Amino acid sequence: MKTIHLTSLGCPKNLVDSELMLGQLVEEGLRPVSEPGEADVLLVNTCGFIQSAVEEGIDTILGLIEQKKSPAVRVVVCGCLVQRYGSGLVEELPEVDLFLGTEEVSSIAARLRALEEGRAAPESGSVPAGAPAADSLRYRPVDDLQRFLPNATLPRRLTTPAHRAYLKITEGCGNRCSYCMIPAIRGPLRSRRPADILHEARALAAAGVKELTLVAQDLTAYGLDLGPGGPRLPDLLAQLHRELPAAQVPWIRLLYLYPSRVNDELLELVAANPRILPYFDLPFQHVADPVLKAMNRPYGEALVRELVDRVRRLVPRAVIRSTFMVGFPGEREEDVEALAAFLRDCRLEHVGMFTYCNEEGSAAATLPGQVPEELKEQRFQRLMALQAEISLAANQARVGQVEEVLVEGVSSETELLLEGRAWFQAPEIDGCVYINEGNCRAGELVRVLISEAHPYDLVGGIV
Ligand code: SF4
Repeated sequence: MKTIHLTSLGCPKNLVDSELMLGQLVEEGLRPVSEPGEADVLLVNTCGFIQSAVEEGIDTILGLIEQKKSPAVRVVVCGCLVQRYGSGLVEELPEVDLFLGTEEVSSIAARLRALEEGRAAPESGSVPAGAPAADSLRYRPVDDLQRFLPNATLPRRLTTPAHRAYLKITEGCGNRCSYCMIPAIRGPLRSRRPADILHEARALAAAGVKELTLVAQDLTAYGLDLGPGGPRLPDLLAQLHRELPAAQVPWIRLLYLYPSRVNDELLELVAANPRILPYFDLPFQHVADPVLKAMNRPYGEALVRELVDRVRRLVPRAVIRSTFMVGFPGEREEDVEALAAFLRDCRLEHVGMFTYCNEEGSAAATLPGQVPEELKEQRFQRLMALQAEISLAANQARVGQVEEVLVEGVSSETELLLEGRAWFQAPEIDGCVYINEGNCRAGELVRVLISEAHPYDLVGGIV
């Protein structure tokens, strides 16, 4: 039996695509292996969102090429990097056997088969004019008409621990943030139908998933492309809540809520149904009005502050996570101070901070007032230090409390501890809870008495 090794880079949305491709190849009879050196097919699903991700993708591809010990081993490169840089990659990386853009997730098995048989695959894409036959087997550009949307009929092989999974509800993005290339890479917003999402959610629940994390480029955009009377995020959540038994899926988590579209209907739904975790991932990106305007984000500091107040008023247990970008073109010292004042006043529990980086082809890359790298770094360090104190204080306030924790298994730090996540810690994004007393299995929900706090992690024992 042939074997396959998967490397999935980038965000959870990309991971869902990876799992769909892996599922199809497993159905074709390939067996997943953890060592690249043992694989007949080396598959890497890349991210192309920012330059550091592009570099990581290229390094990973070069590493896999080194693992290719015989011409029979196939190196397959998929995802955003291919969608973004297409034919350039094909020329630069002749050792790669197959390139698939983000829209070819459902054709991977056919394309791989066609490659083995040495014939062109008619399933998707068009042969680039004048391309040599061999290259037409390796790469096909895909246009907007062939955009991909996941659906529940595609086989999927989870790579996350059995007790948690991501559920992607839309593809593409209808927003136009000036620094972001995602709409150009992933295309316009496409929402899955509620029945299809429910179908997949039921299957995941039946497979033992206890924490279902809904993902999209922008969850609050769900349904905007399905017409005026179509379903929206609160409708979909209400349906998931109704149809998935809480004993089976006790946690439903939401990642990425676009600030200006978080309405009271959504907040009241979360407040009334604790299994829809009161964890609000609100990527504000900045608070200073001129910076937000240059970012083409349709809100200002007043909305950001009002939203934080509203979330906490309507959902008293709410925990807020946000991401911010410093060093955006035109950012002044007073804008950084506005952001620092906001962090001090609003005391968000979790913050991700990034320095802005020009993305080739984005509107922001041509804006005047580019901030020198050294100054970006200074601003980043200053705000990170401030937030570390705030996050530590938020964690310290939990010492002595009992929190519900989903156990991930033995700690990656030491075999002497178990590791889990409290409801206010998202997988692979926030910190964790180290469990130093009591025993249980991975995937169990336990109550933990918190005894120690650090800026990102907590420590406690099972009660
Ligand atoms: S919301 Fe903005 S930052 Fe997020 S994917 Fe869409 S365009 Fe990019």
